[in-house]
Amino acid sequence: MIQQTISRPFHGGIHPPEHKHLSNQAPLRTAPLPEEVVLSLVQHAGRIAEPIVQVGDRVQTGQLLAGCQSGTGACIHASISGEVIAIEPRPMAHPSGLTAPSIVIRSDGQDSRWPWPTLPDWQQASDQQLLAQLEHAGLVGLGGATFPTWIKLEGARKHGIRTLIINAAECEPYITADDLLMRSRPEALLEGIALLERLLQPEQLLLGIEDNKPEALQAIAQAIAGHALESRLKACVLPTRYPSGGEKQLIQLLTGQEVPSGKLPIDLGILCQNVGTLVALRDAVVLGQPLIERVVTLTGQAVRNPGNWLVRLGTPISQLLQLAEADPEQAERLIVGGPMMGFNLDSDQYHVTKGMNCLLLTTAEELPLPGPEQPCIRCGRCEDACPVRLLPQQLYFYAAGGAFDKAEQQQLADCIECGACAWVCPSEIPLVQYYRHAKDQLIRKRADARKADLAKLRFEARKARLEREEQEKETKRRARAEAAAKMAAAKRAASETAENPTPAPATAAATTTATPAPAAENTASAPPTAAAASGSLDDKQLKQLKIARAAAAVAVKKAEKTLANLHTTPDATPEQIQEQQQRVEAAQQQLARAEQRLQDAEQADAATSQEPDR
Ligand code: SF4
Ligand code: SF4
Repeated sequence: MIQQTISRPFHGGIHPPEHKHLSNQAPLRTAPLPEEVVLSLVQHAGRIAEPIVQVGDRVQTGQLLAGCQSGTGACIHASISGEVIAIEPRPMAHPSGLTAPSIVIRSDGQDSRWPWPTLPDWQQASDQQLLAQLEHAGLVGLGGATFPTWIKLEGARKHGIRTLIINAAECEPYITADDLLMRSRPEALLEGIALLERLLQPEQLLLGIEDNKPEALQAIAQAIAGHALESRLKACVLPTRYPSGGEKQLIQLLTGQEVPSGKLPIDLGILCQNVGTLVALRDAVVLGQPLIERVVTLTGQAVRNPGNWLVRLGTPISQLLQLAEADPEQAERLIVGGPMMGFNLDSDQYHVTKGMNCLLLTTAEELPLPGPEQPCIRCGRCEDACPVRLLPQQLYFYAAGGAFDKAEQQQLADCIECGACAWVCPSEIPLVQYYRHAKDQLIRKRADARKADLAKLRFEARKARLEREEQEKETKRRARAEAAAKMAAAKRAASETAENPTPAPATAAATTTATPAPAAENTASAPPTAAAASGSLDDKQLKQLKIARAAAAVAVKKAEKTLANLHTTPDATPEQIQEQQQRVEAAQQQLARAEQRLQDAEQADAATSQEPDR
């Protein structure tokens, strides 16, 4: 394996105390099977998964519990075998503190496996077989972003990738889940890399790892000897500096390229994958195991037995804290993730999710709660620390003052919420909380604007429909009056004929009483007007016109129903609604024409039938 030490820095960054030694001394262990798991249906970026099981169903480990339409989220699988005992909202380990729909399984203690297909000789399998195996594995980015891996892969294959970056930086203090995974399963990691290389065909493979993980690097170096990747994979050893594992920072460190604001790595032909995700990807293909477990670091000075455990998803956090021998007397804060990007939990009554890489239980001295917020003294330290070259103090002023649009203009969206600015702020301003609040407000504002646009569109469409209906009614009224006048004239002519025995030419009478109608579309074989004029309009032709009118009426109903559905679909765009509105109008016009033709033909027929016998 080629190794390179990277010395080029990225802008800003900090080096807080690492505290990694607490949890990286013991080997990776496997947590006991939980008696009950709570699997949230919101464990990934994207749409909520939809349950396909019911309360009372017996399920096996790995069985699909909830699915997502392709390209919209990630599936959820049973992490233990047993019985589904509830499908209901449960508290979600998330900064919002909200509940999420969840599936609860009580274990039968068997851990019997769902028979997923395996592909141990995946080198012989086609790309389509591999992709099909991965599509339903429920994989997400295990570094914390929880973006569905399948969607990322699809995009990368469509776009084409030049560089595949394996993110082994794990730069956040305390967390050692990836470190221990690399030490314990380097062969699985290499197989995961080889699989992705096969699917994406990148020109280069780069692995970025901080220099505080020599054991992991050595394990990979040993495993790669004689491996097909030996001459392909380049390990880039980075100086330990937070947040070197941020996607854009890692890309800059490894390739020297900066991902421009508003762009994605894929726009530069680069894809980053976390080591945990690659091992899970390998297990999905080779073992046929969907994502049902992950490595979680249990650490902090308030636990007596820190380390890393392979944990089934949905396991109660309280059970893990027991495993790590948490000391309730000492515990001050329980954090999901690390001290920089993590969030506090108010209790241990939550459950492990796909994105949960660490549980940190700290003492009051170890990680004191921030002191009272002081005014900004414009010292500029936050600006020096920001790895994205933002102006954190300016963003703070805008966010605190409610000037969210201005914060947006200052590239608030580029903020990766790394917390480096807040870490160095002498005024103890919780800067990231201000940024999150501003981002939430902007999302809400955009959603409100979209709702208002839709409401306006609906109002205008309704107004146009009412006007059109009124116009159509008026046209029909006029047509009826005209037809009645013609009918009266025909009657008068008929009675005059009866009084006057001189025969009048029948065709002339028919021609004067029949209202000209446009040719019937598709259904009538001959124009009814011509038939009426010749006195030969028969039942068959009238029937065809009636069928044409009925078909046009059905088409209108269908189009209106689709439009109504679009109005209640949150994802429907104004363009889609407008397009459907036009379809409705076209169908209504078609119906009006069909009705008019039928009416004309019926009147012509009636007039013809009233002619005196020749
Ligand atoms: S570090 Fe804190 S006090 Fe200093 S400029 Fe930034 S926000 Fe203001
Ligand atoms: S949290 Fe945002 S503003 Fe603060 S340092 Fe990180 S990227 Fe910059």
